[in-house]
Amino acid sequence: MASVSVSSGLNKTLRQHYLSLPQRGLCQVTYVWVDGSGEGLRNKTRTLDREPQGLDDIPEWNFDGSSTLQAKGSNSDMYLNPVCIFRDPFTLDPNKLVLCEVLEHTRLPAETNLRSDCNKVMEKVKEHIPWFGMEQEYTFLGTDGRPYGWPSNGFPAPQGPYYCSVGADCAYGRDIVECHYKACLYAGVKICGTNAEVMPSQWEFQVGPCEGIEMGDHLWMARFLLHRVSEDFGVVASLDPKLMTGNWNGAGCHTNVSTKDMRAEGGLQYIEQAIEKLSTRHAEHIKVYDPHNGQDNMRRLTGLHETSSILDFSAGLANRGASIRIPRQVGQERRGYFEDRRPSANCDPYVVTAAIARTCLLDEEEDEI
Ligand code: ADP
Ligand code: MN
Ligand code: MN
Ligand code: MN
Repeated sequence: MASVSVSSGLNKTLRQHYLSLPQRGLCQVTYVWVDGSGEGLRNKTRTLDREPQGLDDIPEWNFDGSSTLQAKGSNSDMYLNPVCIFRDPFTLDPNKLVLCEVLEHTRLPAETNLRSDCNKVMEKVKEHIPWFGMEQEYTFLGTDGRPYGWPSNGFPAPQGPYYCSVGADCAYGRDIVECHYKACLYAGVKICGTNAEVMPSQWEFQVGPCEGIEMGDHLWMARFLLHRVSEDFGVVASLDPKLMTGNWNGAGCHTNVSTKDMRAEGGLQYIEQAIEKLSTRHAEHIKVYDPHNGQDNMRRLTGLHETSSILDFSAGLANRGASIRIPRQVGQERRGYFEDRRPSANCDPYVVTAAIARTCLLDEEEDEI
């Protein structure tokens, strides 16, 4: 059996005593931000005198950027600018989790602040009322670095029974999945579903529909909650897009997209127009659909295991081997949304949604940000 971390063995009943102590009207606020790797999340907590009623009540804060791959030169103080508030499902009301963007000491967006550019694009396209829904796939790892529940020197039975499975021989780690789902609901993250995936110990949750910048904000917080809940159980959640080589599925972050026009009667023609535009910029999109200029997706988008080839653009009705899929129901109703299947599990949702909005909704003259 895969091993779990030492912290998960601490006495959780004892912990419950302290967590239920009254906190005298004070409020704990945990600031969460994306670090300089573009994948990692960091957090730190402070006490406020009273429960904040909105962003204006949460002060800017700072941190040491030299410890998070974020500082340039010797001036390592960076600012945390709160952008989105959630309830804290660990220490409960009135405590908060607040997602932050990172600013330089000049208060300009840091180089690693990819939200800033996304927000500008979303402002420009807002009359289209763009909705996004992202399907986050991930895999649990034991502390031995193997997928959780896999034999340490062997393999589970081949893929087939695991997708949407039930039963101790198929579904590994459901406790964590259920706790994460509840934590998201409590926090106010727009989680809309979950399922077991094709590879054993691989799972997916979906967030959406979210309008504009909200997509990135909610997916990043959902990821924070995933890592934090997994920590409680002593297991690691990996977003590596191709953890196991061989006949095992990789992990993606399918991105579903619609505009007001696509959702209205006869909207299929707008979906087709968007796909046409996407077809002319395949390479540019691949470059930003993982944090390593397409290198992560090189391992994943092989054309096998329900993926398209990284080299070609394709689109199809109900086709899970295409870059873009139009769901069957959308084809039947001739309105709805389309699915971009290319983003990798470790993609930055700000970058992915900005790229799609730019290509599909901005004219070239407008696309100077
Ligand atoms: P799949 O069949 O690809 O596995 P899922 O059920 O896992 O689909 O995920 C569907 C995703 O599509 C969800 O994230 C949901 O929020 C999103 N979605 C549904 N309707 C729309 C819409 N009109 N516009 C954008 N996203 C949508
Ligand atoms: Mn799905
Ligand atoms: Mn999936
Ligand atoms: Mn999908």
